[in-house]
Amino acid sequence: MPQLEIKNLHVSIEDKEIIKGLSLTVRQGEIHAIMGPNGTGKSTLAYTLMGHPNYTVTEGEVLFDGQNILDMEPDERSRAGIFLAFQYPVAIPGVTVANFLRSALNARRRAVNPEDKGVPIPEFRKALKEQMDLLKMNHDFAGRYLNDGFSGGEKKRAEILQMATLKPSIAILDETDSGLDIDALRIVSEGVSALAGPNLGVLVITHYQRLLNYIKPQFVHVMMNGRIVESGGPELALHLEEHGYDWVREKHEEAAV
Ligand code: ADP
Ligand code: MG
Repeated sequence: MPQLEIKNLHVSIEDKEIIKGLSLTVRQGEIHAIMGPNGTGKSTLAYTLMGHPNYTVTEGEVLFDGQNILDMEPDERSRAGIFLAFQYPVAIPGVTVANFLRSALNARRRAVNPEDKGVPIPEFRKALKEQMDLLKMNHDFAGRYLNDGFSGGEKKRAEILQMATLKPSIAILDETDSGLDIDALRIVSEGVSALAGPNLGVLVITHYQRLLNYIKPQFVHVMMNGRIVESGGPELALHLEEHGYDWVREKHEEAAV
């Protein structure tokens, strides 16, 4: 069963170590949340998992289905079944949401079978409509140019629709703090809830305690100063909502320096 295993990960940006030995395993069927105060390296983790070139892994490994993904290009990671949501998705004027999704799906299918002729268009349209219904989206959305003039909420919907179409084994979402309104949070969490199941593992990264009003992770981790310092169940997120992060800081003083 494919799973994402992060083992003793160390990551630097411009020679400054940001992630300092982080280990975490996300299995298919599980929803994990990483929470933590600003500046602790949450987005650094997301970017590293995506394969962003500015982030240097100095130690440790990230295995997906037993394979080290750190050697893989971002598109190879995607074809392997990892979905990495972009916080700031790029607009592609001239390419409709439907065409983009069909190309992405066909690339994924060809990664599995190089002889694949691509999904027949009627079959694709039918599946896309079903996904849009599941996510309570207007069908007009499929004909619009990808992210071109999309509101924040629409970009989030496009992301979730992409996830629904590609059916990844593991989805990683960095819901960073800036510009994230309650609507966007709701869209993402409803989408994740609609798609969650035994074949999808989810890692949601967030600063936002309010996330847990919408999404129900089975596993909650607190990240501080580049490490996971606390792990627990949903009660940990509730505790954070009530008490903030100060108690974690105090408990892990050496880590919070
Ligand atoms: P979080 O998402 O938890 O708020 P980030 O991963 O964005 O934290 O940032 C972690 C640390 O890395 C911060 O101290 C931040 O200033 C630093 N950092 C992030 N991006 C860069 C960058 N491109 N260059 C230098 N430092 C960076
Ligand atoms: Mg961040």
